[in-house]
Amino acid sequence: MIIDVHTHLCDYDSVAKPFWDGWAELAALRVNRPLEKVQRRLPEFWDISGDMMVKDMDAAGIDKSVLLAIDWGLARGLGEPKLSIEVINKVYADAVEKYPQRLIAFAGIDPRRNKAAELVDRFLKEYGMKGIKFHTAAGFYPNDKACYPIYEKALEYEVPVLLHTGEVLKPFHFKYCQPIYAQEVAMDFPDLPIILAHTGGCWYSEAVAICNNTTNVYLDLSVWQPRLLRPLEFYRALRTLLDSVSWQRVLFGSDYPFLKLLINQERWVKAFTEIPDVVKEQGIEFTDEEIAGIMGGNAAKILGLTG
Ligand SMILES: [Zn+2]
Repeated sequence: MIIDVHTHLCDYDSVAKPFWDGWAELAALRVNRPLEKVQRRLPEFWDISGDMMVKDMDAAGIDKSVLLAIDWGLARGLGEPKLSIEVINKVYADAVEKYPQRLIAFAGIDPRRNKAAELVDRFLKEYGMKGIKFHTAAGFYPNDKACYPIYEKALEYEVPVLLHTGEVLKPFHFKYCQPIYAQEVAMDFPDLPIILAHTGGCWYSEAVAICNNTTNVYLDLSVWQPRLLRPLEFYRALRTLLDSVSWQRVLFGSDYPFLKLLINQERWVKAFTEIPDVVKEQGIEFTDEEIAGIMGGNAAKILGLTG
């Protein structure tokens, strides 16, 4: 089974316009294209029904995707999107209702919101959401005690928590996203599965160290797609990661739809399921057990999908 543990539903109404302006500006610089051209392609990302995602999952052979609701409304310089946080979470829940066999949703909430824990309780109970996502770049640390009642809710409902770690584009401050702040959470909630998104991003070593010294921390591979542009380096990095933390801690993810124009879902999945012979010839090898675990076996256990 192939499970993508890190995806989003996006449009102008659920993620405020300044984010998209910043995204387009940076993307244009990175790929050396005119800004207007990149902006014109933005609507290709927009789908809050799940239709586009499921179509792309079908093409790639992905069985299930975890949708992570985003709450950036309190972030300085961004502002609230058109939709309220209740509605955004409901949009995610509705997509799951439309595709119950294919989609799973995590509630997204900023713990500084009024009655955040009560809202989370509602999202988990009434909307049937199966995890919690904190995007700390909005301006809080994951070990802030305001987060703790929400971690308690995750324990009560036996669902995992996914924390953004690593860099984020402007206007966010990514000091909040350093994995070290998650270490205290992992210590205080040893029974709570905690996924560090992007394997810590620019703080890779820190994320690996935390994973290695705890029993409840996992790492997702979303946003590793650009590494594929240099395939041997990608496979070497993946091998090093598996040798560092063991394959049971590593989860396939994409951060869909943000990188689909660079490396689509089909190509990203094939990077793991159809490893080119030249990689093996270089002495970089992966077992079937490792690939099966990364691609879905590990996530199925954390998500309680294994009967
Ligand atoms: Zn993401």
